Amino acid sequence: MNRTKLKIDILLKLSISSRPLSINDLHQALDFKCDISTIFRTISQFKDKNLVSEINLEEGFYRYELSLQKKTLSHHHHIRCRVCGEIRNLESCDLSSFEKSIKKLGFTQMEHRLEFSGLCSRCSKS
Ligand SMILES: [Zn+2]
Ligand SMILES: [Zn+2]
Repeated sequence: MNRTKLKIDILLKLSISSRPLSINDLHQALDFKCDISTIFRTISQFKDKNLVSEINLEEGFYRYELSLQKKTLSHHHHIRCRVCGEIRNLESCDLSSFEKSIKKLGFTQMEHRLEFSGLCSRCSKS
């Protein structure tokens, strides 16, 4: 199997997806067959090179998306429906009050992770 093709295809699938993808999602989405462990290894390499970020939405597995500097999307968070599993991107992030108090502590170059869960509009109704 062609490794370079696999890498390109994984990056392509991540770049066109509107939500972060799990290893399983990738396995189903890829244009050619390869085993899960190969995808897993490739993703780990991407992670080491900072090409992809790992996202934990408390589902018992990780999801992946392209790292921010590689994508036109700006910094964002996710919300996942606890019933149907739908995932949406949250485009804005206003944690300026936290940043102010962290700056007062003398820290710079802050990063944070913050993920939400709830019931989507469809699941709230039923
Ligand atoms: Zn739902
Ligand atoms: Zn944020």
